[in-house]
Amino acid sequence: MLSVSPYLKHFDPTSAQIEGAVWIERRLSQLRGCFADPKAYDTALEHDDPLVYSVSSFEPATNNGDLHIGLGKIMPGRVGSEYFLTRGHLHAWREASEIYIGLSGEGLMLLETEGGEARSIPLTANSIVYVPGHTAHRTVNVGSSPLTYLGVYPAQAGHDYAAIANNNFRQVVIELGGQAVVMNRQAWLESHPAR
Ligand code: MN
Repeated sequence: MLSVSPYLKHFDPTSAQIEGAVWIERRLSQLRGCFADPKAYDTALEHDDPLVYSVSSFEPATNNGDLHIGLGKIMPGRVGSEYFLTRGHLHAWREASEIYIGLSGEGLMLLETEGGEARSIPLTANSIVYVPGHTAHRTVNVGSSPLTYLGVYPAQAGHDYAAIANNNFRQVVIELGGQAVVMNRQAWLESHPAR
C-alpha cells in the first residue's frame, strides 16, 4: 500500500507548525535594524525580548521544479508605533516568484521592486498575494491577533536578506489614531517628534 506521508502534511493553524518541518523563531533582539525608530527599539528591548514571528518550513526536495512551503506566524505588537514585521528579503535567485495565502489575522505585505517601486497589499484570511520575481517582500501584522499565512516558492529561490537591509524598505506601517497607516520611511522619520 502506498504511504501518503511524503505527499500529505498536516499543520496546526494555532501554533503555525507543519508536522516534521524546520522551525525558526525570530525574537525582537534578532531584528535590530528592521524597525524605523532605533530609540523605540532599544526601549522595547529593555523591557522584554518577545517572539515577533516564526516560520515552519517544509522543504521536501531541492531540485529544479520543486517547491518549498513556509507557514509564517507574526505576533501582534509594535515597536513604538511601528507594527511587528518580518525581516523581509529578496530571493537569491531573483527571478523566483512566490505566492502568499492568508490564513488568519490582518496583515499587509510590503512589496518593493529592485528599481525601488514600493506598494502595500492587504494579507488577510482567504486572500492570495502574488509576489513577482525581483521584488523584496516583508509581512506586517496590523491586527490584534496573530497573522498566519502560507508562502509557496521555488526550492531554488534562496533568501537574500542583505540587499534590502542596507536601506530598509521604503515604506513603514505605523499606528496612527488606532489605524494602520503606510508611510514613506523618510517622510515618517522626518515628521516623528520623538527623534
Ligand atoms: Mn520569499
